[in-house]
Amino acid sequence: MRYFLITVLSFFFSTILFASSNEAGLLSETNIANSKNIALKFTEQELTWIKENPQVTLIGDPAWFPFEGFDKSKRYVGIVAEVLNLITRKSGLIFNVSETATWQHTIQFSTEQPVDIISASRANLILNKNYRPTYSTIKNPIVMIARGDMHYIPDLNSVKNLSIAVISDTGYSHIIRQTYPNVTFIKVDSINDALLGVANEQYDIVLMSMSVASYQMAELGLYELRIVGITDLDMELTLFVNRDKPILWDIINKVKLHETKQERHEILAKWIKHKYIDRYSPEKMRVLMLVTIFFIGFVFYRNHLLKKQAKVLTELAQTDKLTNIHNRLYLDKILLQTTAQSLRYKKTFSLIMIDIDYFKVVNDKYGHLVGDEMLVQFSLLITDNVRNSDVIGRWGGEEFLIICPETNLQEASILAEKLREQVQQTIFLNIGRKTASFGVCEYQASESVELCLGRADKALFVAKRAGRNQVKAEG
Ligand code: GH3
Ligand code: MG
Ligand code: MG
Repeated sequence: MRYFLITVLSFFFSTILFASSNEAGLLSETNIANSKNIALKFTEQELTWIKENPQVTLIGDPAWFPFEGFDKSKRYVGIVAEVLNLITRKSGLIFNVSETATWQHTIQFSTEQPVDIISASRANLILNKNYRPTYSTIKNPIVMIARGDMHYIPDLNSVKNLSIAVISDTGYSHIIRQTYPNVTFIKVDSINDALLGVANEQYDIVLMSMSVASYQMAELGLYELRIVGITDLDMELTLFVNRDKPILWDIINKVKLHETKQERHEILAKWIKHKYIDRYSPEKMRVLMLVTIFFIGFVFYRNHLLKKQAKVLTELAQTDKLTNIHNRLYLDKILLQTTAQSLRYKKTFSLIMIDIDYFKVVNDKYGHLVGDEMLVQFSLLITDNVRNSDVIGRWGGEEFLIICPETNLQEASILAEKLREQVQQTIFLNIGRKTASFGVCEYQASESVELCLGRADKALFVAKRAGRNQVKAEG
């Protein structure tokens, strides 16, 4: 049971803390919310513009997967490419995407040879002068990546003494610096350098957008790296439209406003599938956790019930139904235990066998029920007058046995005599006074339980023969 619990708990913690949340869920869909039930309709001016300018030029980051990049056959692919396809289907606009050598080249290109659209992070303020951002294509949280042995990081400030890397020239790096003024960041040139640096223990943590991190970690086979924390910052990918083309800006924004949830999911599913380390959404985790907690609770509760039931059954099996004191089964068990302990620890014990005198007369004179009533009263009387350590039980009929641990013959005889007097002085309901006879014996080393019981019985017989209402010891 303990191992089961440890396994379940470690599974939870490793999944919750080190795996990220479901990415598709975290990619923002803010644009989509507004689009419900509004038909996409272009103005005359917009339609004319599309007719006259069907080809739109675009540049982006040549290697920024899964957002955008060029595949082996030099085709522009990724989430942004899919978004562009959607815009083409809805507006007729065709995008001519040029491949630049690096992202730095793209930035340079944007001023020297202006294009219609640049795909970039909204935080690239440098683009703002000549280009105007449209509604965001994707919102993606900036996460902290570390090696698998790192614990969960709730706030970057709490680990500011570690070496933390950010990728230079990303639009959002200056926002990270502003948000965490007390943290010293190490600049790294590329995403791959950053991830490999963490894997090689050059840096402890690197910050980057979740989708890029997951994608590249899988691409590079860096399975020892994990998302260990999420910042409050988002990387917001957007299409910047040349400020000289305000109608193009209107058209793009309009199409993006009419993107449906279904369309968005199809695009994301294509690029997120199989590429990410995480398969658990917060909702799924919550449900899984609740189910497991319920299951563990149920197992505990059932165990508790079974134990309780077993205890009740055992007690029932060892209790005399009429008098509610122990029965012969229990006395036999205790006799064996006491004998074993006595042999092992060289301790003595004594037995007192009790038999009510002329009990048959009670039944004959007052009936069986009154006889039963007397047996109950007699049991209570004996129980009230022995020590807690003594074990008392009904041996059968109107016979009772007391096992007195660590008690010698003389002490047991004194107890028996006290009990005899108590019985003699008691006025039993409907009956009046009755007496009982007592046979006492002390256990002798190595003798069997049967032999010892036989000697107690013999002493009782002697007491009966001697006229009843007396104590006889076998010694
Ligand atoms: P003595 O022991 O003094 O020799 O005489 P006695 O009459 O007590 O002895 P005997 O063994 O002859 O009778 C015991 C009687 O106890 C017989 C039996 O009907 C009665 N008895 C045994 N168990 C119960 C019981 O559970 N309820 C009632 N009412 N009577 C019982
Ligand atoms: Mg008897
Ligand atoms: Mg009797």
